[in-house]
Amino acid sequence: MEFMNEQLTTPVAGRFDVIVVGGGPAGSCAAIAAARCGAKTLLIERQNCLGGMWTSGFINPIFDHENKNGIMRELINELDKKGFWGGFWNESMNYEYMKHLLEQKCAEAGVKLLFQTAFSKAVMEGSTITGVICESVSGRKAYFADFVVDCSGDALCAISAGANVTKENSETRQAMTLMFLVGNVPQAYRDGALLKDIFIAMFKKAGKPLPFDMPYLITSPNSRFGAIQYTHMYGLDPFSAEDLTAAAIEGRRQMIEAVELLKRSDKAFSDLDLICSSQVMGVRESVQVVGEYTLTANDLLSGASFPDGITKAAFNIDIHTQSNLGQDVRSVKPYEIPFRCLIPKDIHHLLVAGRTISGTHEAMASFRVTANCAAMGEAAGIAASHCAKHRTDVRSINIRELIPELL
Ligand SMILES: Cc1cc2nc3c(=O)[nH]c(=O)nc-3n(C[C@H](O)[C@H](O)[C@H](O)COP(=O)(O)OP(=O)(O)OC[C@H]3O[C@@H](n4cnc5c(N)ncnc54)[C@H](O)[C@@H]3O)c2cc1C
Repeated sequence: MEFMNEQLTTPVAGRFDVIVVGGGPAGSCAAIAAARCGAKTLLIERQNCLGGMWTSGFINPIFDHENKNGIMRELINELDKKGFWGGFWNESMNYEYMKHLLEQKCAEAGVKLLFQTAFSKAVMEGSTITGVICESVSGRKAYFADFVVDCSGDALCAISAGANVTKENSETRQAMTLMFLVGNVPQAYRDGALLKDIFIAMFKKAGKPLPFDMPYLITSPNSRFGAIQYTHMYGLDPFSAEDLTAAAIEGRRQMIEAVELLKRSDKAFSDLDLICSSQVMGVRESVQVVGEYTLTANDLLSGASFPDGITKAAFNIDIHTQSNLGQDVRSVKPYEIPFRCLIPKDIHHLLVAGRTISGTHEAMASFRVTANCAAMGEAAGIAASHCAKHRTDVRSINIRELIPELL
């Protein structure tokens, strides 16, 4: 490969106590929590809204919320009060109200938000992260901070900072899914449904292969629209722009095919509207950071608890792979996620929260669901704020003393 060198002079645009990269379930809660603890907090988000897969990705229901206190519970209570909680399995939310609610919570806490701003590089002093470089319509800018929380969903800061990560190969990595919205959902389906039998019959009739045999219609509360989880793209690499492009094109092909067949094959769906495909590719699995502790399937199956447990999780190990064209599901015993999984080995002043914390392929297939990511984010935000204020290392704090209300 050919290389070129470039010399850059980057303006320093601000100094913060805590910078959070990525405003998904983990990042939004991390930033709100850090700011509530008094930290001057910057939240950088590549899309034009908060919520990550919740909102840009049309993901519902919010799994594993039952065992959560803290910001996750607060969000659900407020969604419920406004009639935006319910729908599919009675644990789904309205995407637009979630965006608005997260913006409100950030504003109330005093978080500085930067949308349409992409993290590009960690600024390091030895093994300590001291800031981030971002690119946006305003140009390339550096922001410094005492503490950084990586909630990018792809461990982008951690990788740039030199942290080790593990990555599945193309056969074992979970499939990508492009979610899409449909409107004018027939009355009988307004609570959502597993469309398995309908899809199997219609694809068989059309003589076409079915990419995934557990398609769900996931309806939003008090509305006539819902998202369909159906498209599945296997073997593609979420760190390749070429593969992400191929996934988006194939995802839309599968979407159009499914909607056309559905409208033709079942009278109930003849007036269904195809609204839009999701703005972002649904990447279930990219990399896991190698942290101070690695959560394993054994921990989940035995219901492990830890002295530094930050939240309880109970969602199944749920793996979408090519070999079964469906979901390989194993139930777990309620277990705790230890704070050490959020600390990348050998890197300082950095925490990772959300789906990329330290865990095996099987363990991440459980803890990746959104309410767990929100709780991890909240714990990380509180810890980051504490470490920035007291200039301490995250390895020497007693996290349980800092988050008594979370567990
Ligand atoms: C198809 C699919 C279906 C799923 N179904 C469910 C479900 O039904 N229920 C459930 O609870 N969970 C579900 N999940 C899992 C869940 O959505 C994710 O694991 C969870 O959203 C991860 O949260 P996060 O905060 O770590 O990352 P994300 O939600 O991915 O958020 C990461 C954020 O970082 C931002 N970002 C990324 N790169 C940059 C950058 N360079 N600069 C700035 N910002 C950046 C992104 O724009 C995004 O907002 C599903 C996942 C997929 C893919």
